[in-house]
Amino acid sequence: MPSSTIPGLDALTRLREGNTRFVANVRSMEALASLSKRIDPLVQPSPFAIILGCADSRAPAETIFDQGLGDLFVIRVAGNIVAPSQIGSVEFAAERYGTQLVVVMGHSHCGAIAATVESMQETSDQPKSRNLLSITDRIAPVVAPLMHTELAKDRPALLRAATRANVAASADHLRHGSRLLEELRLKNGLMVVGAEYDLETGVVDFFDPAP
Ligand SMILES: [Zn+2]
Repeated sequence: MPSSTIPGLDALTRLREGNTRFVANVRSMEALASLSKRIDPLVQPSPFAIILGCADSRAPAETIFDQGLGDLFVIRVAGNIVAPSQIGSVEFAAERYGTQLVVVMGHSHCGAIAATVESMQETSDQPKSRNLLSITDRIAPVVAPLMHTELAKDRPALLRAATRANVAASADHLRHGSRLLEELRLKNGLMVVGAEYDLETGVVDFFDPAP
C-alpha cells in the first residue's frame, strides 16, 4: 500500500512556496538538513510530487523548488517528452507511493525545442541520429501548427509558444495516454499540471492548473 502523501493542491502549494524561496535566494533549513542525513532504506519513500522535466543542466527540480532528499520523484529527459518509459516512470511513482501531483515542466531557452524547430526549417539531408530523432520527432507535431502562423516570423516568440505547447501536449499525453493514470485521476484525485521555468527570473509559472 502506498504511504500517505499530501493532496495534489497542497503539493502544488508546497512547490510554489519552494520556488518563491529559490527566487528570493532563501533556502529551507529542513531541505538543507535532509542533505546531510542518510536515508533509511527500510522506510518507504513518500515523494509529494512527481516532476517530469527537461534534462537541461540549468533546470534541476530539487533546486528550483528548494526541496530535500526524498521529497520529489524526478524524471528528466531532453525536451520533457512523454515516451512509454516516462509514462511507466510516472505510473510507478503514482501507484507505488500514492503521489497525487504530477508536474510537466518545460523551461525557457530549451535546446531540444530549438533543435526541433531548426530541424524543421533546415533543408540539409545529412543523416541524423535515430536516437536524437526519437526526441525531436515527438516535439515536431506540436510545433508544426505554429510554423504556419505569424509566430514563424518571430523566432523568440515561436520558441516560447513551442515550449508551452510541448508542455501542454506532454501533460495531456500523461492524462489520457495511460489507463492507470486516468483511473488515479478520476478515483484518487491525481493532478497533472503543466509548468514553465524561466531561466532568467527563476520563476516557475504553473499555467495549466486543471486536474
Ligand atoms: Zn530543455
